[in-house]
Amino acid sequence: MPSLNDGASARIEAALAHIDISDDIAQGLAQPDAALKVSVPLRRDDGSFALYPGYRVRYDTTLGPAKGGIRFHPDVDADEVSTLAFWMTMKCAVMGLPFGGGKGGITVDPKTLSPAELERLSRAYIEQVADFIGPDTDIPAPDVNTNPRVMGWMADQYRIIRRAHRPDVITGKPIEMGGSRGRTTATGDGAFHVLATMMKRWSREAAGTTVAVQGFGNAGVRFARLAAEAGYRVVAVSDSAGGIYNADGLDLDAVEQAKSAHGAVTAAEGEEITNADLVTLDVDILAPAALESVITADNAPAIRAGIIVEIANGPIAAEADGTLADNGIVVLPDILANAGGVTVSYFEWVQNRQAWYWDAETIADRLEKRMVEATERVAERAETLDIGHRTAAYVIAIEKLDQAAEARGTSAFFRGDDHR
Ligand code: GLU
Repeated sequence: MPSLNDGASARIEAALAHIDISDDIAQGLAQPDAALKVSVPLRRDDGSFALYPGYRVRYDTTLGPAKGGIRFHPDVDADEVSTLAFWMTMKCAVMGLPFGGGKGGITVDPKTLSPAELERLSRAYIEQVADFIGPDTDIPAPDVNTNPRVMGWMADQYRIIRRAHRPDVITGKPIEMGGSRGRTTATGDGAFHVLATMMKRWSREAAGTTVAVQGFGNAGVRFARLAAEAGYRVVAVSDSAGGIYNADGLDLDAVEQAKSAHGAVTAAEGEEITNADLVTLDVDILAPAALESVITADNAPAIRAGIIVEIANGPIAAEADGTLADNGIVVLPDILANAGGVTVSYFEWVQNRQAWYWDAETIADRLEKRMVEATERVAERAETLDIGHRTAAYVIAIEKLDQAAEARGTSAFFRGDDHR
């Protein structure tokens, strides 16, 4: 079995110090329910043949079918997928969605593939995992380097295999193939709702508040846009090639144009900075929106932002938690801050199952309501227990799992000493 990374285990431990749960659920949280490793075959355009390692993990299904994205990245391995699937378990639980947690991935750099190769690889992955996933068991979605088109190929391949339309097997599909309105922007929208809810609680204004966004993908761009529209000053953004900084605020239209024309935000006007520089900028809000572990024990002492909004999954290594807390830095944790994506995925799944599609306004309203309510729950728990928001979110999620385990009967019940 693949294992959880140490950081995830440390966060479970931190939460367990504040709640009294059955040992049954604590045991279950330590490893995934099921993990599949496959070899994904690809006929390259030049006629050569290649095999890529592929994974799908169902971490926990106590609250419903496993749910979580599929990532294409050269660093994907069994333990990473497993840890990401664990985070999905916590995320769905904290949001009150009727899902467990799953994740998948292929160890590949998609930039080395042609569009036709990418299609063949996406379909071949579904060939390999078709019996492991399913609309009632495990429902994939996009993640790093995958998008609606890839989900469309995958859903189509599942239809071919099953000889039946099952749009509810995958979320994040193109709208024309049963996707939901608002899914593409959902992660950035959700992160912004979380921030806005907290700013209101703190009675803080957007005007004069500076923001740096590390990662200029789907979620990072949307969050930067919403922040700028709401009056925040977005002073820095970056992508994998580096970043740009302008103390007066960036022209995001120009940055997006530069990115689409030249493939890098550094082609836009502004002072060039590295990703490492961006993370330690003297800003009010830092939003890491790319990959895991950009903030570690090494650079944590140098972080000057007062608030970190974790739009990526796992951007802060657990080893950095203590330093950030000691320095009074508030972290709005990934399992809450980036949960907008899976929340609209849930709406998509519901719409697919009912074959009844909602308009954009309904989606936006329902997303906002759920994000605001979840943020309030986490903030209130953090205050009551006098703990950080991450631990509070874990406490809420683990409690939810515990209640579901309790409903089925835990060790105490079967021993006969549980009088509930
Ligand atoms: N990959 C996204 C995440 O990490 C979305 C998952 C989903 O929609 O199922 O939350």
